[in-house]
Amino acid sequence: MSYDDSNIFARILRGEIPCQKVFEDDHVLAFNDINPACPVHVLIIPKGPYRSITEMAAQGKDEELAALLRALGTVAGMTGVADTGYRVISNTGDHGHQEIPHLHFHLLGGRPIGRMVSRVDI
Ligand code: 5GP
Repeated sequence: MSYDDSNIFARILRGEIPCQKVFEDDHVLAFNDINPACPVHVLIIPKGPYRSITEMAAQGKDEELAALLRALGTVAGMTGVADTGYRVISNTGDHGHQEIPHLHFHLLGGRPIGRMVSRVDI
C-alpha cells in the first residue's frame, strides 16, 4: 500500500481543513487534537508523506527527522508540560490502532495520565 493523500492530516497540511495550529516550521506542523484526551493534546506531524515512523526512518531526510524531534520538544515547552511531564504516543498500523494513515505523534499532558497500557495476559 502507498501513502493516500486524501487522509485528514494531508488535507490539513494543504489547508483544505482548518486546524488550531500550535507550531509550524519547514518540516513539521503541530495542532490541537479535535477530541482531546488530556488538557494538553497536540498532534505533531511531518509535512512529508509518511504513514509511520518505519516509513519516515527509511525514507526521510535527516533534517526532517531532526525537525520532528525538535518540534516535540518545542511543543512540550510551549504548552507548559515539559516540567510536569507528558507522554508521546504514535499509534501505528492495525495493532497500534492507527486511525489516520499519516505519521503523527500525540503529545499528552496537563494531568497525571496513568500507566502506559493496560496489562493483559500474553
Ligand atoms: P490515531 O488513532 O490515528 O493515532 O489518532 C488520530 C487522532 O486524530 C485522534 O485523536 C482524533 O481525535 C484526531 N483527529 C481526527 N480528525 C481530526 C481533525 O479533523 N482535526 C484534528 N485536529 N484532529 C483530528
